[in-house]
Amino acid sequence: MWVSIRMLVILALADFCRAMPESYDTIVVGLGSAGVTAATILAKAGKRVLGLEAMDRIGGRVKTVPFGDGFIEEGAEWIHGTENSRVYQMAIDNNIPTLDQELEFEVYRSDGTLGNNSLISELVAFCHDQAFTATDKPLSLGEFITGKFMEHIKIKYPELQSNQTFIKEFLNFMNLIVNNYEGSNDWTDVSAKSAFKELGGHQHMSWHRYGYKTFFELLLNTYNNGPGWPNLDIKLNSPVSKIIWPRDSTGNVIVQCEGGQTYTARHVIVTVSLGVLKERHEKMFEPALPIEKTTAIDKMSIGVMDKVILKFEKPWWDRKLLFFSFLWRLEDIANVSKEDYWITRILGASNPMGSDNTLTLWTSGDVGKMVETLPDEIVIRKTMELLRKFMGKKYSNIPEPTGMLRSKWYSNPYTRGSYTYDNLDTPNYPHAREALGAPLLDSSGTPRVLFAGEATNPIHFSTVAGASDTGYREAMRLLPSSKM
Ligand SMILES: Cc1cc2nc3c(=O)[nH]c(=O)nc-3n(C[C@H](O)[C@H](O)[C@H](O)COP(=O)(O)OP(=O)(O)OC[C@H]3O[C@@H](n4cnc5c(N)ncnc54)[C@H](O)[C@@H]3O)c2cc1C
Repeated sequence: MWVSIRMLVILALADFCRAMPESYDTIVVGLGSAGVTAATILAKAGKRVLGLEAMDRIGGRVKTVPFGDGFIEEGAEWIHGTENSRVYQMAIDNNIPTLDQELEFEVYRSDGTLGNNSLISELVAFCHDQAFTATDKPLSLGEFITGKFMEHIKIKYPELQSNQTFIKEFLNFMNLIVNNYEGSNDWTDVSAKSAFKELGGHQHMSWHRYGYKTFFELLLNTYNNGPGWPNLDIKLNSPVSKIIWPRDSTGNVIVQCEGGQTYTARHVIVTVSLGVLKERHEKMFEPALPIEKTTAIDKMSIGVMDKVILKFEKPWWDRKLLFFSFLWRLEDIANVSKEDYWITRILGASNPMGSDNTLTLWTSGDVGKMVETLPDEIVIRKTMELLRKFMGKKYSNIPEPTGMLRSKWYSNPYTRGSYTYDNLDTPNYPHAREALGAPLLDSSGTPRVLFAGEATNPIHFSTVAGASDTGYREAMRLLPSSKM
């Protein structure tokens, strides 16, 4: 009798423990660059960490996919800058030979003729440099660059000043380039006054056939079948629906997933994108986020940049040339139907470094969002018409593709956009990124819910390296005496 009562107690205790949510030192919500960086630093420092990822894969806005004769990148493609880059350093430390990709372009016009490469390249480089000139003027990037461009041609190419057609065509092309950089819909939506800084060194370092995924494998210690980190639990397909955080210093943070699973931890680091926060923050946090943070979420912008990647039996283009840019003639734009307007907003086609027989076409802004909704066969047919229109004179008999992949960063409920940019409201809210990244503290001043992700990086936002730095920043907030 005594034994069976003891058994009953043990069984009851086991049941009780099963019903108790699993508890961790820190839960990291989202396993992109910021989340994986934070989770692995904490796990290596001996903390018990749980990473909850909504999608069925790690990487977030980095997505390396086998395609063509190698790999393509649906999301981030390059390491932008080598100096003080956590991403580049990771490759170097692990002897992964990254390659620099010179994005020299060849300009094609919509009548199939070749544009003046050296002139256009010089003008694009000039306009690009202006975007990084500090200005206090409350202008859009479009107005700012246009003004600088006009001053430039007055001095360097005075004969162009009266060529209104060329000026309009070039500025239309430059607008598209800016939208691809920013994810914006139009360069008049982007602020000329921005705190963004490029990291020093080459801006287009490629993981080529290793794929950007290698960065995550190295962080997670799973590269070449590495064993991972023993203190780090990872749960994929686990969208977090609610984060309940205590104001007093005793309780734990409770994290609920859509499937009903509940976990608790002393700290939670939230790394979801600005797009996800815009859509879900009201339902996600209890108590609700403070006004400084909701204002930042409201006022900041996340843009859209998408890729359409076509695969061919073999490359029919010159692989030494890296970017085929499409410069529309005004009269040809006028002849495009309203329905097909989107094809006039494709910047051009580039050669991915990880796959020889694929070409990437680039869309952005509202057009990018709309293209995400089009059926595959229309996207394939129209992009092939576009390639033949611009490149068909130089490359006769361009063959049909053998496959297509494309990104849908806006439709994806776990990204809701590609990356953030500084909009026209930014000068009025100069500390919005800091406010977004500020932790929620309990009554003793201890950070309980912390925020990382590219949008929270005041100067290196919109990049993988910038996102990784914010993961490091928040991990260090929890390990203040560590020297990692
Ligand atoms: C097309 C494209 C091209 C780009 N090119 C470059 C480039 O060449 N170089 C460069 O440096 N950067 C580039 N970027 C930007 C770069 O990819 C991002 O800045 C960076 O990857 C963002 O990392 P993150 O950790 O902040 O966010 P994310 O990568 O978005 O990670 C957040 C994670 O949170 C998850 N999540 C969302 N909601 C939930 C939830 N409710 N519960 C649990 N998990 C959730 C998401 O699934 C995601 O995995 C590009 C981006 C895109 C889209």
